[in-house]
Amino acid sequence: MTVLLGDVITALEARYDPALAEPWDAVGLVCGDRSEPVRRVLFAVDPTAAVVDEVIAAGAGLLVTHHPLFLTPVHGVPADDPKGRLVHRLVRAGAGLFVAHTNADRAPGTGVNAALADVLGLTGAVPLEPAAGVPGAGLGRVGELPAPMSLRDFAALAARVLPATAGGVRVAGDPARTVRRVAVCGGSGGSLLPAAAAAGADVLLTSDLKHHPVSDALEVDGPALCDVAHAASEWPWLAVAAEALRRDLDDRVAVQVAAGTTDPWVFRAGQES
Ligand SMILES: [Zn+2]
Repeated sequence: MTVLLGDVITALEARYDPALAEPWDAVGLVCGDRSEPVRRVLFAVDPTAAVVDEVIAAGAGLLVTHHPLFLTPVHGVPADDPKGRLVHRLVRAGAGLFVAHTNADRAPGTGVNAALADVLGLTGAVPLEPAAGVPGAGLGRVGELPAPMSLRDFAALAARVLPATAGGVRVAGDPARTVRRVAVCGGSGGSLLPAAAAAGADVLLTSDLKHHPVSDALEVDGPALCDVAHAASEWPWLAVAAEALRRDLDDRVAVQVAAGTTDPWVFRAGQES
């Protein structure tokens, strides 16, 4: 039975309620015709040109990304603008673009933060910053590792379960420190450091951490910190969201995760390991 783009959007919004998005965010359908059939859906963190190449090569009728193509208002989408060109290419290929951003971060169960906690094997994970009125929803997660381990081993675990990136996993804290209670936040989660400390976390894993807050956290004996690539921290969500959509639509659409991470960093010099 044919699935229309409108049906796919209904299924996605049932899991990633637009009401959970930040007021400044830009989520939902960017381009696409709700009355057209969709046979394949591709999931990626960012709507880059390489990802659009993949959408077209796969014959996907919908690209779902975590990050918005347009976060601020635009006056037009001319094809000689890098982002406008992506819209043209998608529309010509008959593909829509749908964004689930901070609503996917906050979603319970199959959201970005829940997926990050799951891939690290955390149990009993609950939001670090709960969303009002929706059980299990909120930013970040804090939960327990099945067994205590050293910070060094935890960082190695993160490196193993997340996609490899040029930056790898950067660690602040004593490598021999024992960690069991783990806080995570997909994307730029430095603002959740006080919440992670208040939740008794031994370590906070997130991305885009800055020098001063990290330095200050070590001075006050706060949680150790693991900084991973932004796109890598959100990557676990792609397979979870894709699988959830396939199930929600009773296998009537094929789903696919983009082949590579969209981490923009290419290489690192100066450290031989
Ligand atoms: Zn992000």
